[in-house]
Amino acid sequence: MAFKDKVAGFDVAKKCPKGMLNGPCGGVANGMCEVKGPCVWVKVYAKLKSKNRLDEFTKVRMPNAK
Ligand code: SF4
Repeated sequence: MAFKDKVAGFDVAKKCPKGMLNGPCGGVANGMCEVKGPCVWVKVYAKLKSKNRLDEFTKVRMPNAK
């Protein structure tokens, strides 16, 4: 998947094993990814909330054209 933008400084396309671009999948539990390690989208949410920028969380992200 081509998605080069970062969200709240996180490279979600690379850090998420499923390449989710618009928030966490249903496999997140207690902040952890169902595949491995912490869910990057939980980190994104926490960072945006701390900066009072949750509007960025709900923004729709589309894969970039190649
Ligand atoms: S739990 Fe989070 S990091 Fe893991 S696959 Fe789902 S969205 Fe991606």
